[in-house]
Amino acid sequence: MPEYTGHAEIAGGGIGGLTAAAALARRGWTVRLHEREESLRAFGSGIYLWSNGLAVLENLGVRERATADAHHGRWIQTRNRRDNVMSRIPVNRSGGVEVLTILRERLITSLVEAAATAGVEIVTGSTVTRADPGGFLELADGSRHGADLVVVADGVGSRLRDGLGLLRGRRALGQRCARMLIPREPGLVPEADEDDYIEYMSGRRFLLYTPSSATDLYVALVCPTGDSEAIGDPLPTREWIRSFPHAAALIDRLGPVSRWDDFEWIELHAWSKGKVAVLGDAAHAQPPYLGQGGGCAMMAALGLAHTVTRGAGTLGDRLRAWEARERPLIAHTQRFSFRVGRLNDVADRPRTALMAVLGRSRAFGRSRLRAARAIPTGASPI
Ligand SMILES: Cc1cc2nc3c(=O)[nH]c(=O)nc-3n(C[C@H](O)[C@H](O)[C@H](O)COP(=O)(O)OP(=O)(O)OC[C@H]3O[C@@H](n4cnc5c(N)ncnc54)[C@H](O)[C@@H]3O)c2cc1C
Repeated sequence: MPEYTGHAEIAGGGIGGLTAAAALARRGWTVRLHEREESLRAFGSGIYLWSNGLAVLENLGVRERATADAHHGRWIQTRNRRDNVMSRIPVNRSGGVEVLTILRERLITSLVEAAATAGVEIVTGSTVTRADPGGFLELADGSRHGADLVVVADGVGSRLRDGLGLLRGRRALGQRCARMLIPREPGLVPEADEDDYIEYMSGRRFLLYTPSSATDLYVALVCPTGDSEAIGDPLPTREWIRSFPHAAALIDRLGPVSRWDDFEWIELHAWSKGKVAVLGDAAHAQPPYLGQGGGCAMMAALGLAHTVTRGAGTLGDRLRAWEARERPLIAHTQRFSFRVGRLNDVADRPRTALMAVLGRSRAFGRSRLRAARAIPTGASPI
């Protein structure tokens, strides 16, 4: 099959846009990426990367750089209000699923390096105002940039997607989250648990403990959007300690909260229109309970680069083939993470019983890890 290459214009310099840029450029495309912020910097927190996302980084040639300081947990534990373990998933064992945690900043700088090495032109401080299905981007400075392929990856609140009329559903999930990075130090959790990933659940509140390097600890706090006693800056630590008294040492260390993010769900009529492809949170945002939003963005981006370059038929045929191939798994992951998130609404006692049953279910485990174990389209070395 003859390869198809040309020029691509990309809107958005997050995980999805950068992956698409690097993957296209490595396949022979000329690529320009526009990011509205003045610099490509990630919000300070950690991120889980599963086998699928790691395979994408490997394909882009930056896995080693991205994961040099990574933390490799041994278990993902979920604990109840009384600090008893409700479920435990072994990870990073031979033959099992791999999951690492790193700083977001490290992921973004690695993707920027992959893009720059492949020759991508990155333009910061460049706000895109419209993506046209005929194949061009319009910028806030009035300029217009034509392309054989336009990629829209401007995040969950994507105005470019909305301008294309592709949005089928956007749902607020009623949960809000604060993320913080603090230094790792002894005594924040019992010594035996220090290297694990721990999800604490109590009532409708959730606390995530994630070592993300030898020195950095990422903590996320989740509660209903209407839980005004738990939301604020400074953090109402007493309220959180009331829910998680066993994690008081950890909660006491939490610093200022720079922002609270709402969880959302995005579904599109189609992932492309004319010469424009939409991916990442703009196309398939999901609540973060499986740690797969970024992984899915990376898979969709690599799959796009592979399919438009090596697929058959017109660009439209290739874009439809890309969606047909990537969307079922990503839609499954969205649905599954949504259902896992609903466990926050179950009362403590039945939740403990339910989680014990789910923890023993092979079907549940397989379904939960389906995206994590997937081999991304186009992941074999080029
Ligand atoms: C609490 C929380 C925890 C999470 N944990 C994980 C995890 O552990 N693992 C995981 O894989 N995923 C996780 N995710 C999901 C992951 O962060 C997202 O799926 C991922 O960041 C989406 O990347 P993106 O590139 O699509 O969008 P974004 O990261 O939102 O990037 C969009 C970019 O586009 C830019 N932009 C916006 N508008 C314009 C415009 N008009 N012109 C130019 N540029 C524009 C923005 O400035 C931004 O840089 C988590 C999400 C949350 C909320």
